[in-house]
Amino acid sequence: MRELGGCTRFTAIFGDPVEHSLSPPMHNAAYAALGIDRAYLAFHVSPEHLQDAIRALPALEIIGVNLTVPHKENAATLMHQLSEEARILGAINCVVNRDGELYGDNTDARGLERDLRESGVTLDGGSAVVVGAGGAAASAILACARMGAAKILIFNRTVERAAALAHRLKQSDVALNNTSIEPGGLNKLAQPAAVADAVIVINATPMGLKTGDFAPVAYDAVRPDCMFYDMVYAREPTPFMAPALALNRRSLDGAGMLLNQGVLAFELFNNLAAPAAVMRDALLAALGRA
Ligand code: NAP
Repeated sequence: MRELGGCTRFTAIFGDPVEHSLSPPMHNAAYAALGIDRAYLAFHVSPEHLQDAIRALPALEIIGVNLTVPHKENAATLMHQLSEEARILGAINCVVNRDGELYGDNTDARGLERDLRESGVTLDGGSAVVVGAGGAAASAILACARMGAAKILIFNRTVERAAALAHRLKQSDVALNNTSIEPGGLNKLAQPAAVADAVIVINATPMGLKTGDFAPVAYDAVRPDCMFYDMVYAREPTPFMAPALALNRRSLDGAGMLLNQGVLAFELFNNLAAPAAVMRDALLAALGRA
Protein backbone atom coordinates (compact mmCIF):
# COMPACT_ATOMS: atom_id res chain seq x y z
CA MET A 1 0.00 0.00 0.00
CA ARG A 2 1.15 3.56 -0.69
CA GLU A 3 2.15 5.74 2.21
CA LEU A 4 -0.80 7.68 3.57
CA GLY A 5 -0.49 11.46 3.59
CA GLY A 6 -2.45 14.63 4.11
CA CYS A 7 -4.00 14.40 0.63
CA THR A 8 -5.00 10.74 0.82
CA ARG A 9 -8.75 10.23 0.23
CA PHE A 10 -10.52 7.29 1.84
CA THR A 11 -13.04 4.62 1.04
CA ALA A 12 -14.00 1.97 3.58
CA ILE A 13 -16.20 -0.89 4.72
CA PHE A 14 -18.52 -0.79 7.76
CA GLY A 15 -19.43 -4.13 9.36
CA ASP A 16 -19.93 -5.97 12.64
CA PRO A 17 -17.81 -8.08 12.52
CA VAL A 18 -15.53 -6.66 9.85
CA GLU A 19 -12.14 -8.17 10.68
CA HIS A 20 -12.63 -11.05 8.20
CA SER A 21 -13.39 -8.74 5.25
CA LEU A 22 -11.41 -9.31 2.04
CA SER A 23 -12.48 -5.98 0.54
CA PRO A 24 -9.50 -3.96 1.89
CA PRO A 25 -6.81 -6.03 0.09
CA MET A 26 -8.87 -6.01 -3.12
CA HIS A 27 -9.46 -2.25 -3.19
CA ASN A 28 -6.01 -1.27 -1.91
CA ALA A 29 -4.35 -3.41 -4.62
CA ALA A 30 -6.41 -1.51 -7.19
CA TYR A 31 -5.35 1.89 -5.80
CA ALA A 32 -1.71 0.79 -5.79
CA ALA A 33 -1.94 -0.47 -9.38
CA LEU A 34 -3.51 2.79 -10.57
CA GLY A 35 -1.00 4.84 -8.55
CA ILE A 36 -3.66 7.09 -7.03
CA ASP A 37 -3.54 8.56 -3.53
CA ARG A 38 -6.52 6.72 -2.12
CA ALA A 39 -6.90 3.98 0.48
CA TYR A 40 -9.60 1.58 1.70
CA LEU A 41 -10.11 1.02 5.45
CA ALA A 42 -12.20 -1.36 7.55
CA PHE A 43 -14.28 0.10 10.40
CA HIS A 44 -15.93 -2.02 13.04
CA VAL A 45 -19.30 -0.24 13.31
CA SER A 46 -21.88 -1.66 15.72
CA PRO A 47 -25.59 -1.33 14.85
CA GLU A 48 -26.14 1.41 17.45
CA HIS A 49 -23.40 3.52 15.85
CA LEU A 50 -24.39 2.99 12.22
CA GLN A 51 -26.37 6.22 11.91
CA ASP A 52 -23.54 8.33 13.41
CA ALA A 53 -20.96 6.58 11.19
CA ILE A 54 -23.01 7.18 8.02
CA ARG A 55 -23.72 10.81 8.97
CA ALA A 56 -19.97 11.39 9.44
CA LEU A 57 -19.15 10.53 5.80
CA PRO A 58 -19.69 14.04 4.36
CA ALA A 59 -17.89 15.70 7.31
CA LEU A 60 -14.87 13.42 6.85
CA GLU A 61 -15.07 13.70 3.05
CA ILE A 62 -14.97 9.91 2.77
CA ILE A 63 -15.63 9.08 -0.87
CA GLY A 64 -17.69 5.96 -0.37
CA VAL A 65 -18.22 2.95 1.87
CA ASN A 66 -19.29 -0.64 1.48
CA LEU A 67 -21.68 -2.18 4.00
CA THR A 68 -21.67 -5.72 5.21
CA VAL A 69 -23.57 -7.73 7.82
CA PRO A 70 -25.68 -6.51 9.65
CA HIS A 71 -26.01 -3.04 8.12
CA LYS A 72 -27.31 -3.51 4.58
CA GLU A 73 -31.03 -2.94 5.34
CA ASN A 74 -30.71 -0.23 8.02
CA ALA A 75 -28.22 1.81 6.00
CA ALA A 76 -30.70 1.99 3.12
CA THR A 77 -33.03 4.06 5.33
CA LEU A 78 -30.29 6.67 5.92
CA MET A 79 -29.63 7.62 2.27
CA HIS A 80 -30.65 10.82 0.47
CA GLN A 81 -31.15 8.80 -2.71
CA LEU A 82 -31.34 5.12 -3.64
CA SER A 83 -30.75 3.34 -6.92
CA GLU A 84 -33.74 1.50 -8.35
CA GLU A 85 -32.02 -1.79 -7.58
CA ALA A 86 -31.45 -0.80 -3.93
CA ARG A 87 -35.15 0.11 -3.64
CA ILE A 88 -36.19 -3.28 -5.02
CA LEU A 89 -33.80 -5.18 -2.76
CA GLY A 90 -34.51 -3.03 0.30
CA ALA A 91 -30.80 -3.14 1.11
CA ILE A 92 -27.56 -1.43 0.06
CA ASN A 93 -23.95 -2.56 -0.01
CA CYS A 94 -22.50 0.77 -1.21
CA VAL A 95 -22.80 4.40 -0.17
CA VAL A 96 -21.38 6.99 -2.54
CA ASN A 97 -20.73 10.45 -1.10
CA ARG A 98 -21.73 12.83 -3.89
CA ASP A 99 -20.70 16.22 -2.51
CA GLY A 100 -22.49 15.50 0.77
CA GLU A 101 -25.51 13.77 -0.81
CA LEU A 102 -25.46 10.09 0.12
CA TYR A 103 -26.41 7.73 -2.72
CA GLY A 104 -27.11 4.09 -1.86
CA ASP A 105 -26.71 1.29 -4.37
CA ASN A 106 -26.50 -2.48 -4.28
CA THR A 107 -23.96 -4.23 -6.51
CA ASP A 108 -24.62 -7.78 -5.22
CA ALA A 109 -27.11 -8.81 -7.95
CA ARG A 110 -24.97 -7.29 -10.74
CA GLY A 111 -21.84 -8.89 -9.22
CA LEU A 112 -23.46 -12.32 -9.11
CA GLU A 113 -24.89 -11.97 -12.61
CA ARG A 114 -21.48 -10.99 -13.98
CA ASP A 115 -19.81 -13.96 -12.26
CA LEU A 116 -22.42 -16.40 -13.57
CA ARG A 117 -22.14 -15.07 -17.13
CA GLU A 118 -18.31 -15.14 -16.99
CA SER A 119 -18.57 -18.73 -15.75
CA GLY A 120 -20.68 -19.75 -18.75
CA VAL A 121 -23.97 -20.21 -16.90
CA THR A 122 -27.09 -19.70 -19.05
CA LEU A 123 -30.53 -19.70 -17.48
CA ASP A 124 -32.73 -18.92 -20.50
CA GLY A 125 -36.16 -20.42 -19.79
CA GLY A 126 -34.67 -22.64 -17.06
CA SER A 127 -35.52 -23.22 -13.44
CA ALA A 128 -33.42 -21.90 -10.53
CA VAL A 129 -33.42 -22.80 -6.83
CA VAL A 130 -32.38 -20.12 -4.34
CA VAL A 131 -31.72 -21.21 -0.74
CA GLY A 132 -32.39 -18.41 1.76
CA ALA A 133 -34.70 -15.42 2.02
CA GLY A 134 -32.48 -12.53 3.13
CA GLY A 135 -30.85 -9.75 1.12
CA ALA A 136 -28.42 -12.10 -0.61
CA ALA A 137 -31.30 -14.33 -1.73
CA ALA A 138 -33.15 -11.29 -3.09
CA SER A 139 -30.01 -10.40 -5.11
CA ALA A 140 -29.81 -13.97 -6.43
CA ILE A 141 -33.47 -13.88 -7.50
CA LEU A 142 -32.95 -10.58 -9.31
CA ALA A 143 -29.84 -11.90 -11.07
CA CYS A 144 -31.58 -15.13 -12.14
CA ALA A 145 -34.66 -13.26 -13.37
CA ARG A 146 -32.48 -10.90 -15.42
CA MET A 147 -30.69 -13.89 -16.92
CA GLY A 148 -34.02 -15.21 -18.16
CA ALA A 149 -34.97 -17.89 -15.62
CA ALA A 150 -38.59 -18.96 -16.19
CA LYS A 151 -39.10 -20.24 -12.64
CA ILE A 152 -37.37 -19.54 -9.33
CA LEU A 153 -37.99 -21.67 -6.24
CA ILE A 154 -37.07 -20.01 -2.92
CA PHE A 155 -36.37 -22.57 -0.20
CA ASN A 156 -35.83 -21.20 3.29
CA ARG A 157 -35.70 -22.47 6.89
CA THR A 158 -38.50 -20.04 7.78
CA VAL A 159 -41.06 -20.65 5.03
CA GLU A 160 -42.96 -17.46 5.89
CA ARG A 161 -39.87 -15.39 5.07
CA ALA A 162 -39.57 -17.10 1.69
CA ALA A 163 -43.25 -16.36 1.02
CA ALA A 164 -42.84 -12.72 2.10
CA LEU A 165 -39.81 -12.26 -0.16
CA ALA A 166 -41.62 -13.83 -3.13
CA HIS A 167 -44.60 -11.55 -2.47
CA ARG A 168 -42.47 -8.42 -2.13
CA LEU A 169 -40.54 -9.03 -5.33
CA LYS A 170 -43.73 -9.81 -7.27
CA GLN A 171 -45.22 -6.50 -6.04
CA SER A 172 -42.15 -4.44 -6.93
CA ASP A 173 -42.31 -2.37 -10.06
CA VAL A 174 -39.32 -4.16 -11.56
CA ALA A 175 -40.01 -6.46 -14.47
CA LEU A 176 -39.08 -9.93 -13.25
CA ASN A 177 -39.13 -10.98 -16.92
CA ASN A 178 -42.33 -12.99 -16.33
CA THR A 179 -40.36 -15.23 -13.99
CA SER A 180 -42.59 -17.21 -11.63
CA ILE A 181 -41.42 -17.28 -8.01
CA GLU A 182 -42.52 -20.02 -5.61
CA PRO A 183 -41.62 -20.26 -1.90
CA GLY A 184 -40.98 -23.48 0.01
CA GLY A 185 -39.25 -24.95 3.06
CA LEU A 186 -35.63 -26.08 3.33
CA ASN A 187 -36.82 -29.74 3.34
CA LYS A 188 -37.69 -29.37 -0.37
CA LEU A 189 -33.97 -29.45 -1.19
CA ALA A 190 -33.92 -33.15 -0.33
CA GLN A 191 -36.96 -33.95 -2.48
CA PRO A 192 -35.82 -35.16 -5.93
CA ALA A 193 -38.93 -33.86 -7.72
CA ALA A 194 -38.46 -30.36 -6.26
CA VAL A 195 -34.89 -29.93 -7.55
CA ALA A 196 -34.74 -32.22 -10.61
CA ASP A 197 -35.23 -29.43 -13.21
CA ALA A 198 -32.87 -26.88 -11.67
CA VAL A 199 -30.24 -25.34 -13.96
CA ILE A 200 -28.70 -23.70 -10.91
CA VAL A 201 -28.97 -24.09 -7.12
CA ILE A 202 -27.69 -21.03 -5.24
CA ASN A 203 -26.92 -21.04 -1.52
CA ALA A 204 -27.68 -17.55 -0.21
CA THR A 205 -27.40 -18.45 3.50
CA PRO A 206 -24.37 -18.72 5.83
CA MET A 207 -25.07 -22.48 6.25
CA GLY A 208 -21.82 -24.41 6.31
CA LEU A 209 -19.76 -21.31 7.06
CA LYS A 210 -19.24 -22.02 10.76
CA THR A 211 -21.02 -25.23 11.69
CA GLY A 212 -19.69 -27.28 8.76
CA ASP A 213 -23.19 -28.65 8.11
CA PHE A 214 -25.50 -28.00 5.18
CA ALA A 215 -29.13 -29.07 4.86
CA PRO A 216 -29.67 -32.37 2.96
CA VAL A 217 -29.77 -31.87 -0.83
CA ALA A 218 -30.84 -34.45 -3.47
CA TYR A 219 -27.65 -33.79 -5.47
CA ASP A 220 -27.90 -36.92 -7.60
CA ALA A 221 -31.49 -36.15 -8.68
CA VAL A 222 -30.50 -32.83 -10.27
CA ARG A 223 -29.80 -32.62 -14.01
CA PRO A 224 -26.14 -33.26 -14.85
CA ASP A 225 -25.41 -29.73 -16.11
CA CYS A 226 -26.75 -28.03 -12.96
CA MET A 227 -24.47 -25.41 -11.34
CA PHE A 228 -24.22 -25.52 -7.54
CA TYR A 229 -23.29 -21.96 -6.54
CA ASP A 230 -22.39 -21.08 -2.96
CA MET A 231 -22.31 -17.38 -2.05
CA VAL A 232 -20.11 -18.42 0.87
CA TYR A 233 -16.40 -18.54 -0.02
CA ALA A 234 -13.47 -20.23 1.66
CA ARG A 235 -10.01 -21.60 1.00
CA GLU A 236 -11.48 -25.09 0.41
CA PRO A 237 -14.74 -26.16 -1.31
CA THR A 238 -17.62 -25.45 1.08
CA PRO A 239 -19.88 -28.12 2.65
CA PHE A 240 -22.56 -27.19 0.06
CA MET A 241 -20.14 -27.60 -2.86
CA ALA A 242 -18.24 -30.72 -1.77
CA PRO A 243 -20.96 -33.36 -2.51
CA ALA A 244 -21.62 -31.74 -5.92
CA LEU A 245 -17.92 -31.87 -6.82
CA ALA A 246 -17.77 -35.51 -5.69
CA LEU A 247 -20.51 -36.23 -8.27
CA ASN A 248 -18.56 -34.27 -10.93
CA ARG A 249 -21.20 -31.54 -10.95
CA ARG A 250 -20.35 -27.93 -11.75
CA SER A 251 -19.80 -25.86 -8.63
CA LEU A 252 -18.49 -22.41 -7.69
CA ASP A 253 -18.15 -20.48 -4.48
CA GLY A 254 -18.92 -16.80 -3.96
CA ALA A 255 -15.39 -15.46 -4.51
CA GLY A 256 -16.30 -14.42 -8.07
CA MET A 257 -19.40 -12.60 -6.82
CA LEU A 258 -17.35 -10.89 -4.13
CA LEU A 259 -14.83 -9.80 -6.75
CA ASN A 260 -17.44 -8.47 -9.15
CA GLN A 261 -19.51 -6.61 -6.56
CA GLY A 262 -16.19 -5.05 -5.46
CA VAL A 263 -15.20 -4.09 -9.01
CA LEU A 264 -18.60 -2.40 -9.48
CA ALA A 265 -18.30 -0.64 -6.09
CA PHE A 266 -14.78 0.58 -6.92
CA GLU A 267 -16.09 2.13 -10.13
CA LEU A 268 -19.00 3.80 -8.30
CA PHE A 269 -16.70 5.24 -5.61
CA ASN A 270 -13.88 6.40 -7.85
CA ASN A 271 -15.50 7.04 -11.22
CA LEU A 272 -12.64 5.08 -12.79
CA ALA A 273 -12.42 1.74 -14.58
CA ALA A 274 -11.36 -0.84 -11.98
CA PRO A 275 -8.29 -2.99 -12.62
CA ALA A 276 -10.30 -6.21 -12.24
CA ALA A 277 -7.39 -8.60 -12.81
CA VAL A 278 -5.36 -6.92 -10.05
CA MET A 279 -8.34 -7.11 -7.70
CA ARG A 280 -8.86 -10.79 -8.54
CA ASP A 281 -5.19 -11.60 -7.80
CA ALA A 282 -5.35 -9.74 -4.48
CA LEU A 283 -8.54 -11.55 -3.50
CA LEU A 284 -7.17 -14.98 -4.40
CA ALA A 285 -3.99 -14.22 -2.44
CA ALA A 286 -6.05 -13.13 0.59
CA LEU A 287 -8.05 -16.36 0.29
CA GLY A 288 -4.82 -18.34 0.20
CA ARG A 289 -5.54 -19.60 -3.31
CA ALA A 290 -2.93 -17.65 -5.26
P1 NAP B 1 -29.33 -12.69 6.07
O1 NAP B 1 -30.17 -11.57 5.62
O2 NAP B 1 -28.91 -12.75 7.48
O3 NAP B 1 -30.07 -14.04 5.63
C1 NAP B 1 -29.71 -15.19 6.15
C2 NAP B 1 -30.57 -16.31 5.50
O4 NAP B 1 -29.90 -17.49 5.84
C3 NAP B 1 -31.98 -16.40 6.00
O5 NAP B 1 -32.80 -16.85 4.97
C4 NAP B 1 -31.86 -17.46 7.11
O6 NAP B 1 -33.02 -18.24 7.30
C5 NAP B 1 -30.79 -18.35 6.53
N1 NAP B 1 -30.03 -19.05 7.57
C6 NAP B 1 -29.15 -18.51 8.45
N2 NAP B 1 -28.62 -19.47 9.23
C7 NAP B 1 -29.20 -20.64 8.84
C8 NAP B 1 -29.06 -21.98 9.27
N3 NAP B 1 -28.23 -22.32 10.27
N4 NAP B 1 -29.80 -22.92 8.66
C9 NAP B 1 -30.63 -22.60 7.66
N5 NAP B 1 -30.81 -21.34 7.19
C10 NAP B 1 -30.10 -20.36 7.78
O7 NAP B 1 -27.93 -12.74 5.28
P2 NAP B 1 -27.64 -12.27 3.79
O8 NAP B 1 -27.12 -10.88 3.83
O9 NAP B 1 -28.81 -12.56 2.94
O10 NAP B 1 -26.36 -13.19 3.42
C11 NAP B 1 -26.47 -14.59 3.29
C12 NAP B 1 -25.09 -15.19 2.98
O11 NAP B 1 -24.63 -14.74 1.71
C13 NAP B 1 -24.00 -14.79 3.99
O12 NAP B 1 -23.21 -15.93 4.27
C14 NAP B 1 -23.19 -13.76 3.24
O13 NAP B 1 -21.83 -13.72 3.68
C15 NAP B 1 -23.29 -14.27 1.82
N6 NAP B 1 -23.05 -13.20 0.83
C16 NAP B 1 -22.01 -13.35 -0.03
C17 NAP B 1 -21.76 -12.37 -0.98
C18 NAP B 1 -20.61 -12.52 -1.94
O14 NAP B 1 -20.18 -11.52 -2.54
N7 NAP B 1 -20.09 -13.72 -2.16
C19 NAP B 1 -22.57 -11.22 -1.05
C20 NAP B 1 -23.65 -11.13 -0.16
C21 NAP B 1 -23.88 -12.12 0.79
P3 NAP B 1 -34.22 -17.74 8.25
O15 NAP B 1 -35.02 -16.78 7.42
O16 NAP B 1 -34.96 -18.98 8.59
O17 NAP B 1 -33.58 -17.08 9.44
